[in-house]
Amino acid sequence: MAENNTLIYYLDENNVILNTSEILAKQNICKNYFDFINDEMLKIILSRIFDSVRKKGSPFKTSYRCDNEDELRLYDLEITPMVNNILKLKHELVNTTKRATKLHFSSNSDIIFTMCAWCNKIKYRDIFIELEDAVNKMKLLEYNFLPKFSHGICPDCYTGLIKEIEEYERK
Ligand SMILES: [Zn+2]
Repeated sequence: MAENNTLIYYLDENNVILNTSEILAKQNICKNYFDFINDEMLKIILSRIFDSVRKKGSPFKTSYRCDNEDELRLYDLEITPMVNNILKLKHELVNTTKRATKLHFSSNSDIIFTMCAWCNKIKYRDIFIELEDAVNKMKLLEYNFLPKFSHGICPDCYTGLIKEIEEYERK
C-alpha cells in the first residue's frame, strides 16, 4: 500500500479533536468530533463505543467503508485509550476495489441523501442500498450529478456494531 493510507488523530475527554495528520483539514482541529455528525443513531453508537473504550481501557477494532468516486475502500478502525481519557483513532486503508463505473460526486447539488457511515449504502425511500443501485434507481447519472451525502447508519450496521461492542465489553 502506498503512503497516506493511515490517518491518526486524537480526541480529548470531551471528544474534541486534538491533533491531526495532514489529510484532515487544519480547521477541523479544536472542533468536537460530534459536530461533524448530525445523525442521532450514529451519535448514540459512537458515544457508546468511545465510553466503552475509555471505561474498559483496551483497544476496540472494527472496519468500515469510505468509498470515493472510482474506488470502494475498506478501512480498519482502531480506537485506543490513552492517558487522561484521550482516545487515539487510527484509520487504515486495507483494501480497494475499482468501481465498475466511475461516479462523479457533485458538490453543487442541493439534494442531500443519507449514507451509512459504515457500509456506504444510500438511504432510498426506507431502505439502504448500494450507491450503484441508488444511481440506477434514481437515474441520477442522467442528470450527470450525484447528491451530497450526510452520514447516518443503516439498521444492519447498527445491529452489527452493537454486537461487536457487546462482545468487546464482555471480554
Ligand atoms: Zn451500513
